[in-house]
Amino acid sequence: MSRPVAPGAAPAIPTPVDDLLGRLWHEGHAAYVVGGSLRDVLLGRTPADWDLATSARPDDLLAIFPGAVYENQFGTVAVRRGDEVFEITTFRSDHDYADFRRPHRVEFGDSVALDLARRDFTVNAMAWGREAGDKASRQAPGLIDPFGGREDVERGILRAVGEPARRFQEDALRMVRAVRLAATLEFRIEPATLAAISEQSELVEHLSGERLGAELTKLLAAPRPSVGLRLMADTGVLAHLSPDLASQRGIAQNKVAGEDLWDHTLRTVDAAPAAHMVVRLAALVHDIGKPATAADGHFHGHERVGADLARALLERLRFPKPVVERVVALVRQHMFAYEVSWSDTAVRRFIGKVGRQALDDLFGLRAADNVGSGGAPDASGLGELRRRVAQQLAADVALDRADLAIDGDDLIGELGLRPGPSIGRILDELLDRVIAEPSLNDRPTLLLVAQSLVEDEP
Ligand code: ATP
Ligand code: MG
Repeated sequence: MSRPVAPGAAPAIPTPVDDLLGRLWHEGHAAYVVGGSLRDVLLGRTPADWDLATSARPDDLLAIFPGAVYENQFGTVAVRRGDEVFEITTFRSDHDYADFRRPHRVEFGDSVALDLARRDFTVNAMAWGREAGDKASRQAPGLIDPFGGREDVERGILRAVGEPARRFQEDALRMVRAVRLAATLEFRIEPATLAAISEQSELVEHLSGERLGAELTKLLAAPRPSVGLRLMADTGVLAHLSPDLASQRGIAQNKVAGEDLWDHTLRTVDAAPAAHMVVRLAALVHDIGKPATAADGHFHGHERVGADLARALLERLRFPKPVVERVVALVRQHMFAYEVSWSDTAVRRFIGKVGRQALDDLFGLRAADNVGSGGAPDASGLGELRRRVAQQLAADVALDRADLAIDGDDLIGELGLRPGPSIGRILDELLDRVIAEPSLNDRPTLLLVAQSLVEDEP
């Protein structure tokens, strides 16, 4: 487990970061470690990346660090040291928030205090470093903490910098960041900050899908995403992000006593492996079609309805296309019902239908779904199905068209068939037979079978 840095003690800053700071001080600029990375070291966690802020302008930075790259879009200069890239940002203040989104204008500044004041939460609004001056000046680096972030880190509290309602009107993403950080850091949101989120949750509608999607991805990587998702539902944020998920609340499920469909979704998400974003996303949306199909009490066809709703949501949140496709396929297939009586042919058909590359994800989703239903991960025959699938895969039998010993060119070249849709039909029929009887999968045999199929064609 991580151990927080003792109050007053210096945070452990790695050598490359220390070198960058030293260089900037020496060149006559103020420089600090800021934001999430400082928060994380104070918590005793390893930061994902290091954010530095300085009084130096981007042009100065490019001159001081040859080979550095100005990322204009983010107003940041990226400096490479070995394998790592460090982002250095000039102090700034934000202006002209107009539409509940990002500021329309940012202004470079000379003061670390102004730079910290524009940041979202007290724990993210601290700086470690010092003003300009070389080593000889003996000015020791220290913590700048105008909003009591150090204490909030210790107590595990997220508190808006300044007046919460105003800060959320400036940029509504901060509300989503609050629930996301509550989950990733396992912090509580302070009451006034939480109340402001509940009061203004509808501002989330103004945000771009891209920014929302990025926060959702970070939320789903948390140890227990349910912490943040529950906050989203309770504050009303979820209703503006996904009305379909929000309406899972209150829908009865006879799975875990006293729990509803939303509780089931949350348990399922937490049970999905944290390192496996596709499965976590699929866990979140696997039953998204249930509220719309609850009329007869059976959720009939919810996996098909859900696949469409999941696609619409993930596309709106700008998830990459391959991710959307995998998640949608998982939602569509998540209702498979294995029985001991399945023949080996049935197991092979199942593999063919799911697709070899998607099996692990689908099993991961079902294991999480089992846990979300109050059962063991391997319940509902999952353990046995996994073993039988592994057996078939090890036997190296044909499971899709590409595994057949002949292809369309053989049908055209050897049997004189004309290119067209009948080629595909014949290959599908051959695959069907090979799945039932793997020993048919050799070239001469398949050509003979194909010939008989051609003769049978009307
Ligand atoms: P993570 O550890 O997940 O990266 P983070 O807090 O570092 O979390 P970033 O998106 O990397 O999040 O942002 C870096 C810093 O920039 C934050 O710590 C915060 O000080 C500031 N920041 C980011 N987004 C906002 C925002 N919407 N409004 C105000 N300040 C922000
Ligand atoms: Mg960060």
